[in-house]
Amino acid sequence: MCAKDCSGQNETSEDFYATLVARHSSDAVVISGPDRKARWVNAAFSAQTGYVLEDIQGKEPGSVLQGPETDPMAARMIDLACGQRREVRLDILNYRRDGTAFWVDLKITPVYDSSGLHTHFISTMRDISERKTLENQNEEMRQAEALRQSERQLLALTSEWLYSAKSFDELLMVVRRAMHTLIPEADGALYIYGAQRATLDLVASWGTIPDFPDHILPDDCWALRRGRAYAYGLKPIQFPCDHVHKPDTPYFCLPIIAHGETIGLMHIIFDGFEEDGLMRHMRAEVLGNRWDISLICAEQISLAVANVRLRHELQERSVRDALTGLWNRRWFSEQAMRELAGAEREGGEMSLVAIDVDHFKTFNDQFGHDAGDLVLREVGSLMKPLVDQNIFPCRLGGEEFTLLCPGLSTAQALNIAETLRQQVGALRLSAETTSLPGITISCGIATYPQDATALDPLMKLGDRALYKAKDSGRNRSVTSAELAAECGP
Ligand code: GH3
Ligand code: MG
Ligand code: MG
Repeated sequence: MCAKDCSGQNETSEDFYATLVARHSSDAVVISGPDRKARWVNAAFSAQTGYVLEDIQGKEPGSVLQGPETDPMAARMIDLACGQRREVRLDILNYRRDGTAFWVDLKITPVYDSSGLHTHFISTMRDISERKTLENQNEEMRQAEALRQSERQLLALTSEWLYSAKSFDELLMVVRRAMHTLIPEADGALYIYGAQRATLDLVASWGTIPDFPDHILPDDCWALRRGRAYAYGLKPIQFPCDHVHKPDTPYFCLPIIAHGETIGLMHIIFDGFEEDGLMRHMRAEVLGNRWDISLICAEQISLAVANVRLRHELQERSVRDALTGLWNRRWFSEQAMRELAGAEREGGEMSLVAIDVDHFKTFNDQFGHDAGDLVLREVGSLMKPLVDQNIFPCRLGGEEFTLLCPGLSTAQALNIAETLRQQVGALRLSAETTSLPGITISCGIATYPQDATALDPLMKLGDRALYKAKDSGRNRSVTSAELAAECGP
């Protein structure tokens, strides 16, 4: 005896098996007419979607199964393929009767009878939600990894730029640019301690609405008071720093430390979180990530500041005289050449004042080398304020000084020399308990272009004028012009 199915088909017929497969398949099956209207569904369809045949019969399956998040492009591809009676296979988001969405791998196949007449569409749908979830997770992980990778690259690049900064200004330029790129949703500022260490001064800021105080007090900042980086807005109980005037805005304060000494503060504030709903949603995650980046940046900036300072120190040491702090001969020669070229270009003047301490050998012999050094330091100190008048005091060696005076005529340089000479004459020094006798200087002045047009002859003329001052009794200033007048025709 042959088994029969409910439609009365015989087990020997192929249709019997086809019906059996469709009915018991774990994939959902919908059979539609050539007009695409559903005529039959299998049990797996009802299990997958929650719809029974009556819910969908006479309707296009898509009109029941697709929903608001279904990709319209996928729906269009189905329409197009069905219109052309082609097979189509794609992943599409469907909706169950209870409104929940799920992904299916959908295949729609047109079916023809033996005479070639198009009679049905068979749609099979496999639930691939799990696969999609995994795919999405993988994609998220891939994106997160790509982001971390690009952050790492950016950090490495930043560190390279920071480390190659030659000057403090260059360093600030790199900091502004790098911080804005690395943490684009934050505004930031860099503060450095002033010379007295009473306040920290704003030296750089970045972001959309930089609105930072120009100075802050060390006591106003929790990070400076506690000596470690401080994140506000990550924990339920926290207190804002006094220098921050935006309550409820998350921010970081990170000390900048060079050679073990706190020299400044980096402040990073996340203004955008409050207005932007999306950002607020991601706040904890984003802040956590930015905190890590900020710590690395603060460390790199610290190293870079230390590096720039060291460079500056070495540079200064190579052009400064150790005893007086005045510029040395090497710097003088280079600067004098630059100024001379400038004067030539602009048709200006430039004077040199050669200065020598009178009877200094005797002074040394009588009061000792240390007392002699004291004199040199004090004479140097009297010259230092001249920098404010764009006059460069240099110690070329021994007790010989030169004032490089760009833009000054002989008369103006003479005036400067005479004032200095009087100031030196008025010095009253003492070494330990012994008070030292007054000292004097002699000065010789030569001016570009009337006395000479090159540096060497100009210096020689200055020296000759100085010898003349010595010859004429010391403690006086002589100009090269006077010499020329004396030797005149
Ligand atoms: P004059 O008025 O003609 O210039 O007489 P002077 O004794 O100053 O003669 P001179 O310029 O030849 O003497 C230079 C002396 O300066 C020689 C040396 O003892 C002293 N001197 C040079 N360099 C230093 C220094 O670094 N420290 C001290 N204490 N003395 C120095
Ligand atoms: Mg001398
Ligand atoms: Mg001398």
